[in-house]
Amino acid sequence: MPRGRKRTRVPIARRRRVLGIGRCCYCGNVDGPFWVEHRVPVSRGGTNELDNLDCACAECNFEKGDLLVEEWEEQRRAAGLG
Ligand SMILES: [Zn+2]
Repeated sequence: MPRGRKRTRVPIARRRRVLGIGRCCYCGNVDGPFWVEHRVPVSRGGTNELDNLDCACAECNFEKGDLLVEEWEEQRRAAGLG
């Protein structure tokens, strides 16, 4: 087996389960629309396993982008938003 992670998509059942949370894990927004959020972005070595997935609103998902949660929070603090 080659080393390294495959960039597979999150299986639909897992997406449904995560989106079914119905609440943004970052800002608590319950209005949606929601996205499957990778707490550690795939581009940073995160996986598609449930323990790396969470439900986030589109705004938080977009804002966080490829940052780690800690980096994003740091950025928000620096911008006076956190
Ligand atoms: Zn949010």
